[in-house]
Amino acid sequence: MPHSHHSHSGQFCRHAKDNLEDIVIEAIKQGFEVYGLTEHAPRYRVEDLYPEEADLSIADLQAAYQSFLSTALSLKRKYADQITLLIGLESDYITDLDLERTIDLLASHPEIEYIVGSVHHVGGIPIDFDRVTWLRAVYACGQTGSSAALSPLSELGTVETSPLQIQPTYSPSSSELRPFILAYLNQQLHMIRTLRPEVIGHFDLFRLWTPELDVRSPELNREGERGVWEAIRRNVEEGVRIGALFEMNTAAFRKGWNTAYLCRPIAELIIESGGRFCFSDDSHGVTQVGLNYHRLRDYAESLGMKSIYYLAPRRTDVVGDVRVDLEEAGAVRRADGWSELGLGVRLGEIQEDSGGLCECR
Ligand SMILES: [Zn+2]
Ligand SMILES: [Zn+2]
Repeated sequence: MPHSHHSHSGQFCRHAKDNLEDIVIEAIKQGFEVYGLTEHAPRYRVEDLYPEEADLSIADLQAAYQSFLSTALSLKRKYADQITLLIGLESDYITDLDLERTIDLLASHPEIEYIVGSVHHVGGIPIDFDRVTWLRAVYACGQTGSSAALSPLSELGTVETSPLQIQPTYSPSSSELRPFILAYLNQQLHMIRTLRPEVIGHFDLFRLWTPELDVRSPELNREGERGVWEAIRRNVEEGVRIGALFEMNTAAFRKGWNTAYLCRPIAELIIESGGRFCFSDDSHGVTQVGLNYHRLRDYAESLGMKSIYYLAPRRTDVVGDVRVDLEEAGAVRRADGWSELGLGVRLGEIQEDSGGLCECR
């Protein structure tokens, strides 16, 4: 019986489709045993709204997340005899404000059972919105270095007035990518330490626009400089140390990758380090539920992965009032063998995203 720990719906997220209940019904139809509903955490600054949210206020985003929580809780109860729905939150880390407010949100909403700890911005600039915006983030990191505060997006000018490095067809070199990747990984480490997420979401999202990038290449790992591989190793160790599950996320197949998120070298490093994996479809609508799980199975098998793990509510007698606790025995369960997961029986269709602005989110 398959599991997924990460999903969105058009009811509460402008770049997704369909009602949450229709997504749940599809997950039941496909035989999912555990399905995580993890709407994006609200953002807290007007400048962090996406173009499709131009008519919304910060208060609207907060209200939408609250409404997601109450809908998810009622669906969890309604379908409890057919599927284990988990209620979660996918983090954003744009500035420290996001982390602080997420901690407050968790404290006031015990029905949030777990966090998918994700980073979608570097230096305040979205990296999975479109290619030009990603190029802006890469360029800004090159200007200020991987640890310095970056210029706000608004100070970078329009595409027409921007430097060559922000023109849509520009391909950054490894030395231009390195500060950007290190900045992403530094933010990810800070997010892991601060939020202690149960699931680390799409660990290598920084590779979205450069799927061919070799994270161990000499250009990204020069002697005498901070290397990308060393920073990846550090973050993997931190994730293992806190007991987080590393997400194998099929959204990357929709983006045209040959693997899920967690490219082969990083997945192998996690296996060597004793890390644990979980599966997610990161669906943004009914047609993406369970999509490409057969490719995920083939990929996981090719990595020699023996077990995958999934989250389970800590107390099955109480619905939705305790956060999943990894320390507690039984909160993380292991599924051995693919037959137990039902993979190969419930195959998603291979679909490519149609493209457009919302490339990944
Ligand atoms: Zn997501
Ligand atoms: Zn995400």
